[in-house]
Amino acid sequence: MPLILYNTLSRTKEEFHPSTWPAVKMYTCGPTVFRSPHLGNLRSFILADILRRTLEYNGYQVYHVKNITDIGHMEQEHQHPGEDDVALAVEKGAAVAAAVAEFYTGIFHEAEKRLNILPAHNFPQASQHISEVIALIRRLMEQGFAYEVSGTVYFDIGRWPQYGRLSGNRPEELAIHRVEPDPQKRNPADFTLWRRAEPQRVEWWESPWGRGYPGWHIEDSAMMLKHVGEQVDLLVGGVDDIFPHHEDVMAQCEAATEKPLATYWIHGEHLEAEGERMVVIAENVITLEDLVTRGVDPLAFRYLCLTAHYRSKLHFTWESIRAAESALRNLRGKLAEEVEGAQPSSRGQPYVDAFVAAINNDLDMPRALGILWEVVRSALPFEERRKLAGDFDRVLGLGLAHVVPQELPEAALRLIQEREMARSSQDWARSDELRQQLLAMGIEVRDTPQGSRYSPRY
Ligand code: AMP
Repeated sequence: MPLILYNTLSRTKEEFHPSTWPAVKMYTCGPTVFRSPHLGNLRSFILADILRRTLEYNGYQVYHVKNITDIGHMEQEHQHPGEDDVALAVEKGAAVAAAVAEFYTGIFHEAEKRLNILPAHNFPQASQHISEVIALIRRLMEQGFAYEVSGTVYFDIGRWPQYGRLSGNRPEELAIHRVEPDPQKRNPADFTLWRRAEPQRVEWWESPWGRGYPGWHIEDSAMMLKHVGEQVDLLVGGVDDIFPHHEDVMAQCEAATEKPLATYWIHGEHLEAEGERMVVIAENVITLEDLVTRGVDPLAFRYLCLTAHYRSKLHFTWESIRAAESALRNLRGKLAEEVEGAQPSSRGQPYVDAFVAAINNDLDMPRALGILWEVVRSALPFEERRKLAGDFDRVLGLGLAHVVPQELPEAALRLIQEREMARSSQDWARSDELRQQLLAMGIEVRDTPQGSRYSPRY
């Protein structure tokens, strides 16, 4: 069954074919490490993870690169000249920009681990690629795609008629939206490749154009060309990456190499909170640490993400995360217990076929999750259900492969025995008391018409 993916570039669903089967090269826009990643960022990293896992489930061998942006952005519309995110964090009390970046890089890796996100094979850091950035800018200047004015270098979009191919934005329309037109630019929509360092700037590098620092887009282009080469199969990010980031990354790489950069451009919709995109300036940011502080299992967030298609907006509320947590707990509980009336003759293959059809249909994870629930509720024998859940979990990543009916501790078995005796003598008060004691030990109790069921809570 072919894998179908929606390609932002063609604006259609296409069959996936890598340039050299079975190898797949995939690049994901990673975190900016001057703060903890918020749940919105993590939603887009979960998308990259399910895409990679789906490719691997289909037998591809994926090489995944995810960059770490450890030097500042230069979004002129959002910042004052000379400020960048890491430098701002430094001003807010941290000693050294590199230490801030290192600290939050650790937090990012920890968050990915807690969400069962497979680590990329390579996490290049922008700060380690300044010489590659400078070499790429020089190359673009030599080819006539870039020009320098007073120590700042711009990409000349007048020389690149393809500009706007990815996002649909036309340079002439963009010019109208510029807040403050920069008089140095040939065209108001030209973007910065290298910026001259302002006197108060904390982080700067020497360059052929004097002291300065790279534009946000050029770092990614330089890291891509170095670590995945001139052509990549898949480029992944959030929808806000489409413009200007990916449009500019595409222009820089394609102008330099004269080759299409990526075959498939995959963009995930936003996580929202309080009615708008989760983003620092909206002050609606929630982090994984916030979930853990409130006692929520981090994997409940992964489960929540799987309940929505990646091209749909997902609205975060505390009710929705609690509901996701309880669904995940139920799923684990059901997988850990025997089912009444199991039919050894029933087969799992139709479920596998339906699961593959779902994941290969542009990563339809809500449907895939539904099929997992059908398996869990089916009359398939215990071992078969667990085998299927473990197999599906290679894509879903909910930690289901480890769910096994655990041996209950001695002390719990004694309480269960006592509770069964209390129930047979209709001593409901004592039975409830023992239920509470078991709960405190992490054992869930369900009284069914067929008798009581005891399972560890996860
Ligand atoms: P940043 O750390 O801000 O550079 O963002 C890292 C990734 O998170 C980028 O690919 C963004 O597109 C993505 N992203 C940012 N905000 C959201 C959001 N609210 N929902 C989903 N993805 C987001």
